[in-house]
Formats: sequence, C-alpha cells, structure tokens
Amino acid sequence: MSRVYNFSAGPAVLPEEVLIEAAEEMLDYKGTGMSVMEMSHRSKAFQEIIDTAKADLRDLMAIPEDYEVLFLQGGASQQFAMIPMNLMRNRVADYIVTGQWAKKASEEAKKYGKVNIIASSADKTFSYIPDLRNLPISEEADYVYICENNTIYGTKFKELPDTKGKLLVADVSSCFLSEPVDVKKYGVIYGGVQKNIGPAGTVIVIIRKELITDEVLPGTPTMLKYKTHADAGSLYNTPPAYGIYICGKVFQWLKRQGGLEAMKEYNEKKAKVLYDYLDASRMFCGTVEPKDRSLMNVPFVTGDEELDAKFVREAKAAGFENLKGHRTVGGMRASIYNAMPTQGVEALVAFMKMFEEENL
Ligand SMILES: *Cc1c(COP(=O)(O)O)cnc(C)c1O
Repeated sequence: MSRVYNFSAGPAVLPEEVLIEAAEEMLDYKGTGMSVMEMSHRSKAFQEIIDTAKADLRDLMAIPEDYEVLFLQGGASQQFAMIPMNLMRNRVADYIVTGQWAKKASEEAKKYGKVNIIASSADKTFSYIPDLRNLPISEEADYVYICENNTIYGTKFKELPDTKGKLLVADVSSCFLSEPVDVKKYGVIYGGVQKNIGPAGTVIVIIRKELITDEVLPGTPTMLKYKTHADAGSLYNTPPAYGIYICGKVFQWLKRQGGLEAMKEYNEKKAKVLYDYLDASRMFCGTVEPKDRSLMNVPFVTGDEELDAKFVREAKAAGFENLKGHRTVGGMRASIYNAMPTQGVEALVAFMKMFEEENL
C-alpha cells in the first residue's frame, strides 16, 4: 500500500487512523455481523452512532443547548436554497460576496427574495476580505450571509462582520472544526463535510432552535424544512448513515488530538511552514492579502502558466496529488486541512525548493 500526500480541496484527506478503524469494522461493526453501510438506520447500533456523533460535536464546538445539530444531505449547495426558504420571513437578506460559493448562495437566494450584496471582493478576484466595519446592513434583512473560508481563493474571515443585531449565517465547509468558534455569534453554521470532516454526502447544520419553525416560505418541500429534520432527530428519512459514522470517528479523532484549540495551534504552525516559504521564495508567491490568509487552502503561482503546469506535473510524479489550482484561478492550491500532517507540508516545501533551484 502506498498513500500519497493529497492536497485536494475536497473530497479531501481524512485521518489515517479513522480509515484504518473503518476498514477494521467494515465487515462486522462491533459484533453486529454487518457493515454500518448495511445496517438499518432505525437499529440500536446506528442510533448509538448518531447520538455519539452529535454529542461529540457538541462537546468539540461547545454548542449551547439552544442550538440544534442536524445531519442532512444535498451538499452545502442545497443549503443555498434551504436557508432562504426557512429564514427569509421578510424576503430580504444581505450577502457578503467573497468568492464563488457566496456568489452562488446569493444567486440562489434571489429566487426567494431581495438580496443585497453589502460587500464584495470581486474587484480583485476575491483575493481579500472586504472591510467589515460599518456595513450597510438592511433594515429588513432576515439574515447576513458569509462564506467564512473561501476554498477556491484561500481567504478567511479573521473576524466576523458586525451584523448590527441581524442573524449571521455562515458557510464553514472548508474551515469546519479547524479552530474553536463561538457558536452563539451565529444563527446558522453549516458545512458540507467532505472538506474537513468526512465523506461527501453529509452536511452538518448547527442552528439556533428558535429559528426552526413551520413559518417557511410557501411551497417549501418537506425535506427542505429544518423542522422536519429537527423533529425527527435527523432521522426523518434514511440519513447519510455511513457518512455520519465516519464523521463520528473524525470527531473522536479530534478529541484525541486535544480538541479545537489544539487543532488551531497545529494548523497555524503547519500553514506557517508553507506561507513562510512562499514569502521567501523567488519563484512562488501566494495570491492572497497576507492578513486574510486561510489556514486551510493556500493558493500560489509562479507567474508563468507553463511553469505552473510543469510544477503540478512533477509534483504529482513525486507523490503530491491535487495541487492544480481551481479552474477559475489557475496556478496551484494546496489544501492543508486538519488531517494533512505537518510532514506533508514540509515535504511539499522541500520539493518546491528543489523545483525552484532547478528551474529558476
Ligand atoms: C465545496 C464547497 C461548497 C459546495 O459543496 P457541495 O457539497 O459540493 O455542494 C460550498 N461552500 C464551500 C465553502 C465549499 O468549500
């Protein structure tokens, strides 16, 4: 068996310990004689899996009692519609557009009401987070929406916007569980798990309980009402059972690492290895405003497209996978989520140094 260093933006690297455990339990989950994949979601064994996963997530993020945790399907993209359908009581919402995912979310929301783009960094290809002081928050806004970590462009909100009392909704797909968060500051926190937590197919929504009501927009499908899933403990229909099981294992792995404070420290040290090199390199440079740099997604370029392509090709041959930048940005991007070991980043930097010496 040989494993590569996988810098994919998503689906992305998972902790090896978790994969090994899952492999060991593949044919016989804890004496049940079957795989979690083959198990009724109404069984005692699965109920324990989902209950434990939920409790561990609550623990890790210190989620207050007045917030609900939901395990849903449809990807992060389904939340682009679910959020307005459930929260747009006045049919007005404010969006901060810091990249494609926030833009897509804002465009979907336009189907349901008035969307105000109250800040954007589109003028400089989303390479920074706009000034968040004194935003023109709309009087009637039902919520203010952000994408907290911009997977494609590699920026991160280092502080949350002042929403002037309005509800904050955040897509945290690519920074989920990478550092501690103050859940109370949000109305809704959600993310697809395939970036930093588990296999594609599961979305986690953490939502203030008072927002879960029957007052949804007319025509909202049963499956797209938060209340449907909250009332049924995320078991209204067959949930993404295997995904939830793996997420649960990752939560336990995170606890063994020391929780989110420890992850933050680890992620900061790990990202610094790459950013320090990029800042010193004569060939490679980062594409993002330094103060807004993400700890999870690190885009960089040589400034020469042919050289970029050569680098990606040679890196792949050396066991560094998925370093090609997003098709809309070009260059390279190293996604260095929780499960990417520091050694992986150190090995990448060593390879980049060698490439620089050979090609400069
Ligand atoms: C990947 C990603 C999405 C889209 O996720 P899907 O599960 O494919 O719908 C949305 N937002 C962010 C920040 C992402 O990184």
